[in-house]
Amino acid sequence: MSSAHAPTIADGMVVSIHYTLTDDGGEVLDRSGDGPPFEYLHGSEGIVPGLERALAGHGVGESLSVTVPPEEAYGPHDPRGVARVPRDAFPEETEIGPGMQFAGEDEDGHEHVVSIVAVEEATVVVDRNHPLAGRTLLFEVTIAALRIATREEIAHKHAHGAHGHDHH
Ligand code: ZN
Repeated sequence: MSSAHAPTIADGMVVSIHYTLTDDGGEVLDRSGDGPPFEYLHGSEGIVPGLERALAGHGVGESLSVTVPPEEAYGPHDPRGVARVPRDAFPEETEIGPGMQFAGEDEDGHEHVVSIVAVEEATVVVDRNHPLAGRTLLFEVTIAALRIATREEIAHKHAHGAHGHDHH
């Protein structure tokens, strides 16, 4: 099928993939969709470690089903991340309910997502774990393209899309 000299995924390559991410219950969590494939720089933690490791050595046109345990994805769920906060920590006009997610800041000023677990009378139970912490993730991946990263991409530790250089 592929020649022995066809390039395969290794550190320092920009990889384009189409993917569907489901949880172990079969619920679709994310997908690359019908648009251009998702691009990442291999070896720079652009994707979860378990998926990155599974893709290494594969080439364009290959499809993989990869099961990634929490330890190789977003980590185990830390029960210490669950806490009760006063209801008035949220703006009064904001409707809050279980399953909703809010962007917040921790004591160090790092942005993170807080998920609402339960709303009680005067308190709200929040979970500061990553929403996918503790979850086993299933990726259906097709490798769409592969190229050597530019020097600039290596320096920036991320892929620069076909539409130029957009940064956050
Ligand atoms: Zn850049």
